[in-house]
Amino acid sequence: MANRTLIKGGTVITVDPAVGDFYPSGDVLVEGNKIVAVAQTIDAGDAEVIDATDCLVLPGLIDTHRHTWQALFRNIASDWTLAHYFTGLHGTMSELYRPEDTYSGNLIGTLEALDSGITTLLDWSHNLNTPDHADAAVDALEESGARVVFAHGGGHQHWQPVSSIPHPADDVRRLRGGRLSSDDALVTMALAPRGNQFATMEVTQADWALAEELGLRITCHFGDGAWGKSRPVAALAANGMLGPQMTFVHCNTLADDELGMMAANGVTASISPDIELQMGHGWPATGRLMDAGIRPSLSIDVCCSNGGHLFGTMRATVGTQRGFDNEAAQAEGKPWVDEMELTCRDVLEFATIEGARACGLDGKIGSLTPGKRADVILLRTDTFGMTPLNNPIGQFVYNAHPGLVDTILVDGKVAKRDGELVGLDAARVRRLAVESRDDIMRRADGRAGARIGGDWIPTAYEAPAE
Ligand SMILES: [Zn+2]
Repeated sequence: MANRTLIKGGTVITVDPAVGDFYPSGDVLVEGNKIVAVAQTIDAGDAEVIDATDCLVLPGLIDTHRHTWQALFRNIASDWTLAHYFTGLHGTMSELYRPEDTYSGNLIGTLEALDSGITTLLDWSHNLNTPDHADAAVDALEESGARVVFAHGGGHQHWQPVSSIPHPADDVRRLRGGRLSSDDALVTMALAPRGNQFATMEVTQADWALAEELGLRITCHFGDGAWGKSRPVAALAANGMLGPQMTFVHCNTLADDELGMMAANGVTASISPDIELQMGHGWPATGRLMDAGIRPSLSIDVCCSNGGHLFGTMRATVGTQRGFDNEAAQAEGKPWVDEMELTCRDVLEFATIEGARACGLDGKIGSLTPGKRADVILLRTDTFGMTPLNNPIGQFVYNAHPGLVDTILVDGKVAKRDGELVGLDAARVRRLAVESRDDIMRRADGRAGARIGGDWIPTAYEAPAE
């Protein structure tokens, strides 16, 4: 018989309306890699017991878009705009990565995510300068123990827009035909093309065809700042190039009718409010997407700039949208909204089940539903900030942080216990990251003013004259 684990006596938030929540207390039974039962009390005989007293029990969080390789340069861009970022990261640092740097960046970046309760990460990997870089990236993802969608986004040479350089299709075919051929492994594959904002329509059509040929989902940036105002999604719709296998990232400056075209074709969305507010992408599209019929997923995006956990993202999402909604009510002469239009439960769903949907994995993860894979997180509530537990979901969205994440199961396997990731040489992971960072800085040799310490502001990127 498969290993059985009983998660006992926690406040269980399943994110599945058919199963419901168990407040103050419920049990979750895991057999092998699957959830088999969720109930107020389960008698599971000799199953191994994880005591969830004073814990919230939830489905693992899902980040649907993160350029994980950038973890080596975490927060170097915290005072940069999008134009600084194009010069500083894509124009300066990217090409200096060796495969071992991609490995160390992806390793610490994925473990950072996992440690904070993100059991599924879409690694939006767009610094794959050679096939060796791609293999190093996947090596780290597989070693991390997290569930990861590796989205192949080409190399630094492809990311100076508007580009007519084709996506490295041979490398995509090589991986899809080899180590990433399974859609049921812990690390699976997607395509992360530039799309018709950052590449020509001819390149985009070839990329769409490549994804179809290999049975890959597409994740693509649209509507970030001025780039998004050229009606790129309308151009795709006119060519019959929208479909439910796609996730569009950001969406800030897409027109309302373009969001409608996405909804009509089943396209999902990933929003990154922290970075969108900082870097000038435009206001987070949360409410406009919901009005169009799309419930967004959440993402970290550039971990070289903002935090690597989704608690900050959830708060940025809810805070911004509630500001909008109150402002709209006040414009109608009311003192404030009659009722909150965006609830904390909505935001929790964005960080879980909607993330699963945007990865094409909602049949497998995203809620504590019997039959789904056991991706489960336990957060401690016996802290000053979480006691008394009056409103589990409200407290989760507004008051939780990575330091509360006590226990994590990924695919039924314990990845974190008593606040520590298991089976991990953490000192090695940190040492590799610092060594890679130092090595890249040495090779950068001050180009474009590159330096660490917090006072490097690169010159702003300017698009070539048309
Ligand atoms: Zn991005």
